[in-house]
Amino acid sequence: MEKSKIGRRFEGKVAIVTASTQGIGFSIAERLGLEGASLVISSRRQRNVDEAVKKLEAQGIDVLGLVCHVSNAQQRKDLIEQTVQKYGKIDVVVSNAAANPSVDAILDTEESTLDKLWEINVKTSILLLKDASPHLTKGSSIVFISSISAYQPPPAMAMYGVTKTALLGLTKALATEMAPHTRVNCVAPGTVPTRFASFITDNDTIRNSIMEKTPLKRLGTPEDMAAATAFLASDEASYITGETIVVAGGMTSRL
Ligand code: NAP
Repeated sequence: MEKSKIGRRFEGKVAIVTASTQGIGFSIAERLGLEGASLVISSRRQRNVDEAVKKLEAQGIDVLGLVCHVSNAQQRKDLIEQTVQKYGKIDVVVSNAAANPSVDAILDTEESTLDKLWEINVKTSILLLKDASPHLTKGSSIVFISSISAYQPPPAMAMYGVTKTALLGLTKALATEMAPHTRVNCVAPGTVPTRFASFITDNDTIRNSIMEKTPLKRLGTPEDMAAATAFLASDEASYITGETIVVAGGMTSRL
């Protein structure tokens, strides 16, 4: 959608997006900010945070940028505390961070790698919400970023896919646990050419074969993911909780 046609659904709202200095997380932050949210963005590297803040401020967005490696308990706590100090409340949390450190088959994956996948892709989302929950407003909204690979984990990213399947279950479980004040939903992106996916999308043969298998015959964009996330996070989705929207151009998504 053209930026000039974007609405203002997040006027007066405060949104935290993790892993948000580039790629899908940045686009989600940008979309929420353009729609009026006060934003808290973060990632591991100060330089990336500073650059992203500059880009968002240049569009008139009210943004606080912090360093937060999602595995660092103190940085997670600081993220929540500084958000509340500056803005007084939290309306939206988008949990977007993930790692995909291995292409090994699941039974060949080192235990330390299994731990890292579970920790970054699932556990830290839970821990962040534990810290955030006392500050979540009535009507607040959580969105997890899963993946199309949650539905049929591909061989080269099998355990990553399994952690993304776990997010579908976490969405259902927390939707019940956090109702009625907080809604919990999830977006499952198809393939999007970001740094994270570059090992797939930079390869012409693989990229073309993914596009060929996708009914809409193209890769996804970070903006496609931002649009679905913004919908779920907004009051327009106020009767939707525990659901996952697959944004994957029609790729098969049955568990
Ligand atoms: P990306 O373009 O590589 O961006 C990753 C962002 O996360 C960067 O801002 C990075 O900044 C930050 N980051 C990385 N590790 C972090 C950590 N441990 N703690 C905090 N921040 C961290 O990745 P992306 O493709 O947008 O992926 C975003 C999400 O979409 C992930 O959950 C991924 O699983 C999901 N997804 C992506 C695709 C795809 O095809 N791209 C498909 C399905 C699902 P720093 O380097 O400064 O930390």
